[in-house]
Amino acid sequence: MSSSRACPNCGAQLRAIAKYCDECGAPIEGEPTSQPVGKMTKQEVEIILRMREEKDNLFKYHPQSPIPQDAKEAFEGLKYLPVNPSYRFLCKLNRYPNPATIGMMTSTGQERNYLKVGFVRFTIGGKPQTLQTFKAIQTSQQEGEKEQLFIPFRDATSGKESYAAARYLDSEELKDDIFLVDFNSAYNPYCAYSDDYSCPFPPQDNWLEIEVRAGEKKLRDQSQEATS
Ligand SMILES: [Zn+2]
Repeated sequence: MSSSRACPNCGAQLRAIAKYCDECGAPIEGEPTSQPVGKMTKQEVEIILRMREEKDNLFKYHPQSPIPQDAKEAFEGLKYLPVNPSYRFLCKLNRYPNPATIGMMTSTGQERNYLKVGFVRFTIGGKPQTLQTFKAIQTSQQEGEKEQLFIPFRDATSGKESYAAARYLDSEELKDDIFLVDFNSAYNPYCAYSDDYSCPFPPQDNWLEIEVRAGEKKLRDQSQEATS
């Protein structure tokens, strides 16, 4: 029995009051949490709605759509929770000085390696939350290209309103380690639509206990499942 904590980056045991991991130097706590941006402009909301529309068109008509061929005819678009500014944050990325490589299990039972880049902190419903952020090992960043983080997560809606296994967020750097973390853009992995895809599942660090009532919902609701 132990009340000790482990470093989220390297797994080393932490001293009780540690703000940094002795082993790898990772920042641990005391980092400020971001509050929601509070409100979104009409234009910001429209951009999200337009992107959803374009994605629906791609999914219905594009040959590389993840929607199985025999389901395309009946496909009426993806389902979303209403756009909500309380789930939109500007977060400082707390970088790990020596990012660990971790294997994420995939929907087809394989393991895929990611670099654990750091963590972001934000507040939902007054409660501080932490998510670990990742990068695929294979991708190389071009000179001058903005950094992109991959943030797979689960929350209390997973398996109810939203897809059980995971939702994903791609977060782009705005400037100087400040990233837009907008759960209104949370989307389902392709394995939500078809078994043909192998999609990584979020590590347990990224299972949030609170509800994230924004972003993509399950494609099928209960009533549709009952008739299929
Ligand atoms: Zn560590």
